[in-house]
Amino acid sequence: MGVYEALGVRPVINARGTLTALGGSVMDPAVVAAMAEAATAFVDLPDLHRRAGRRIADLLGVEAACVTSGAAAGLTIATAALMARDRIEAVLALPDTTGLPDEVVVLKAHRMLYDQAVLVAGARFVEVGVASAARIEQVDAAITDNTACLFYAAESADTRGSLPLAALAECAHARGVPVLVDAAAEIPPPDNLRRFLDEGADLVVVSGGKELAGPQSSGLIIGDRRLIDFCHANSFPEHSIGRGMKTDKETIAGLVKAVELWVARDYSVIFDRWESLVAQVLDALAGLPGVTAERGFPTEPGIQPIVIPRAYVSQAGRPAAELRDALLEHDPPIAVGIEQDRLAINPQCLRDDELPTLLAALTALLRPPR
Ligand SMILES: *Cc1c(COP(=O)(O)O)cnc(C)c1O
Repeated sequence: MGVYEALGVRPVINARGTLTALGGSVMDPAVVAAMAEAATAFVDLPDLHRRAGRRIADLLGVEAACVTSGAAAGLTIATAALMARDRIEAVLALPDTTGLPDEVVVLKAHRMLYDQAVLVAGARFVEVGVASAARIEQVDAAITDNTACLFYAAESADTRGSLPLAALAECAHARGVPVLVDAAAEIPPPDNLRRFLDEGADLVVVSGGKELAGPQSSGLIIGDRRLIDFCHANSFPEHSIGRGMKTDKETIAGLVKAVELWVARDYSVIFDRWESLVAQVLDALAGLPGVTAERGFPTEPGIQPIVIPRAYVSQAGRPAAELRDALLEHDPPIAVGIEQDRLAINPQCLRDDELPTLLAALTALLRPPR
């Protein structure tokens, strides 16, 4: 019996994407091997943490990097770093921010569920504009001596109340304020790993357990070398706000290996494969009465990554939620998303050998009863 079966948990066919609630991603055997090897010896953990960050920064072509236990941990640690820097009393006092700049300026349109991780460090948000509109002058007016940073949620970049990152960064930098970007799930496209830094971000957080396919509880902060040093001061294994967000030796070694594999990926091949999976779903459903199946691209902002094609499927008279729930009842369970009131089948995490099961389940569900 497998580890999941022994607990009465059924492995899921994932046609939804790198969702944390479904396990993030599946690691390459070479990543698992690196973790297993790391588990066999003691090391100087602070030294490993620093060296792994330097290796990952070299691989990605960025100035510096700090391994975290996820993008959410990265947000907390980066926020702590931008407030307390490496002043030991301040580092140890967080989330008490007495005497520190602790305001994080954010567009109203960029508030989202993950930003609680910023508050964990002890910061407060200062919201600018309304959900549907904001002006750069309002951002400038919100910056004071008490501003720790400007926070930018990359997933909200295309919403109505957003402003271009480059313009925000220019405004913030003119006032000596750094910019922190949440790009947890913005890969692919692969260029996004560097793009936000190129557009003026000082620190960017990325999940290690999504498209990078590292350990699920891993992540990265990348960016300015001096600020990454401050991140280390506020990270495990130092006593700090980051102490509970542990990055063990196995996770660190696994993420290094995952990044090595990721930089060698050929995304033109990967996108072709995704397109082919979507096309096979559309082909299998063509001609079923009452069924609409079409390629969806790009998806609506907020459901990342937007550049991965989807198969959008709907059936007249049947709510998308009913179809989704029926697929979760399938044996094995099949997880699909809902976007724009339609089933959204995302090929990102789908294995080739799972496609026949997915197609059979979909056609059985959508075929009219005899
Ligand atoms: C997934 C996600 C996070 C959290 O990432 P973890 O690596 O799971 O901690 C934060 N922000 C956004 C936008 C995300 O999609």
